[in-house]
Amino acid sequence: MDFAERYSRQVLFPPVGAAGQQQLSEARVALVGCGATGSALASLLARAGVGYLRIIDRDYVEPSNLQRQLLFDEADAAESLPKAIAAARKIAAFNSAIAVEPHAADLTPGNAEELLRDVQLILDGTDNFETRYLINDFAVSRQLPWIYSAAVGSYTVTMNILPGETACLACVFPESPRGMVETCDTAGILNSAVNAVASVAATETIKLLVGARDKLRRTLLSYDVWTNDRAEISTATPRPGCRACGQRDFVHLAGEGRPHITLCGRNSVQIHERQRPVDFDEVSRRLTPHGPVRHNQFVLKFWREPYELTLFPDGRAIIKGTTDTAIARSLYARYVGS
Ligand SMILES: [Zn+2]
Repeated sequence: MDFAERYSRQVLFPPVGAAGQQQLSEARVALVGCGATGSALASLLARAGVGYLRIIDRDYVEPSNLQRQLLFDEADAAESLPKAIAAARKIAAFNSAIAVEPHAADLTPGNAEELLRDVQLILDGTDNFETRYLINDFAVSRQLPWIYSAAVGSYTVTMNILPGETACLACVFPESPRGMVETCDTAGILNSAVNAVASVAATETIKLLVGARDKLRRTLLSYDVWTNDRAEISTATPRPGCRACGQRDFVHLAGEGRPHITLCGRNSVQIHERQRPVDFDEVSRRLTPHGPVRHNQFVLKFWREPYELTLFPDGRAIIKGTTDTAIARSLYARYVGS
């Protein structure tokens, strides 16, 4: 497909123009988390012609995702495809000219360097502050810009972090903010809120990639699509004494990793203690006497009432049906191995 024809309407927008479009085609962006906000970000940026997208997501597609996660469909949910893989397939169908590198993985201090290197910008499509603080530490330590985005209920919030210029996430939220502890599990979420915040963040991304730095917003912007309440707090200058950008104490990046994580939106626990590959055929044979089991090349699913275990090739598992890490750990030890 002809490059000029494909992007003609965006090139006609003067601040992008032909030169900006060329810069977009050479740009390299990492997206951490490809759920609702991440799907919208990936879709907008892939269609806009961002040349390289690295998509990192630890989760798989489920029916309850389809209300708001625009890159996925019923077939993806039926197959329990990892979101990163499903996203790469969808993007290839509407823009085969860009490169998408999917990683079905959980971002941790141990793999942050490998998963976030060689990009110009990191985008936040996650649902938790633990991962955001890790992204912030990595980005600030490498002088790499990143964009924080979140949506819960009808409320959205986003902020550009330009290390060396603006405040960082730890300047604004030294601790995980109380209000945002409420997750989509308890509050529910409107798909329009997700798309609103993704649209703002995708626009900031394009400004940054085409070199329009003077147009980048230097505030924490919050907007409620239901009440129309809107607020902005200046983030133009770092907070003196900030742990991350001031003291350069990168505790989240130095961490030893996290053995268990309770996922957002679900009654489930993630376990990734075992850092060695598993053989799906072998595990499948072993589990068959204990309950229904099926697998494809990306995931293995096993049902043992009231639990559902989803296993990834690197040994990581998501156990649904409990938030008790002790129960999850014992199920994992019994059915996968220790
Ligand atoms: Zn800071």
